[in-house]
Amino acid sequence: MNASVSGQHGEGKSFTSMVADKGERGEPASRALVEELALANHILFREGVVDGFGHVSARHDKRPDRFLLARNKAPALVTPDDIIEFDFDGNPVNANGRTVYLERFIHGELYRARPDVMSVVHSHSPAVVPFSVVKKSPLRPICHMSGFLGEEVPNFEIRDHAGDESDLLITNSRLGAALAHTLGGCNCALMRGHGSTVVGPTLKEAVYRAVYTEVNARLQSEAMRLGEPTFLTAGEARVSAANISSQINRAWDFWRMRAEGKL
Ligand code: MN
Repeated sequence: MNASVSGQHGEGKSFTSMVADKGERGEPASRALVEELALANHILFREGVVDGFGHVSARHDKRPDRFLLARNKAPALVTPDDIIEFDFDGNPVNANGRTVYLERFIHGELYRARPDVMSVVHSHSPAVVPFSVVKKSPLRPICHMSGFLGEEVPNFEIRDHAGDESDLLITNSRLGAALAHTLGGCNCALMRGHGSTVVGPTLKEAVYRAVYTEVNARLQSEAMRLGEPTFLTAGEARVSAANISSQINRAWDFWRMRAEGKL
């Protein structure tokens, strides 16, 4: 790479997304994981979570200090050959000149902060965004399918960390770490005026959570039009989340068929 390459460290900010590879060998992840990650990209598009933007990553299955994320590409178009290995600072290992996502720091910092997290989905899914901008209406679990949201979803205010003239994007490790701090031990964080990020203990579960965060936001908006909703209690959220967690394959198999155009 050359001197025009920047943006991979600290406050360095770049509007180009070509970044020099870290000078270390990559470790091939299992083919099954890479293929599942490509499929996850397609499912998230088909289910209305991502469009031209948004991304999904998986923690590397042989190097837990690294993660896998597609090159800078619309999720629906991602193939296994587009998957790149990154370190937690957002440095690619094997980009080989391919452009990378500006907001890869979301992923690196969440994996660093949360050893239990195996997958991260960041999106701008449309029904969620309104809840990020209305303080008195936090996103809360409205039904048993979205108990993973916990009692109330935290909302990241980037103005507290980047001032009032930022582009609202997580374009460096410091902002990624601030988002991780807001997420804390939760499974989902809203990002004011931007979107949301969800995490999961598996790739399939993170995808499930991303889909149902959007569904919950739609349902909650509908319910609030009718009156004051009754939300799940913390206990109901916990127990229903544990129950649904064992049923994820059922949804995944269906979503896979639909993403592959077979339904
Ligand atoms: Mn974004």
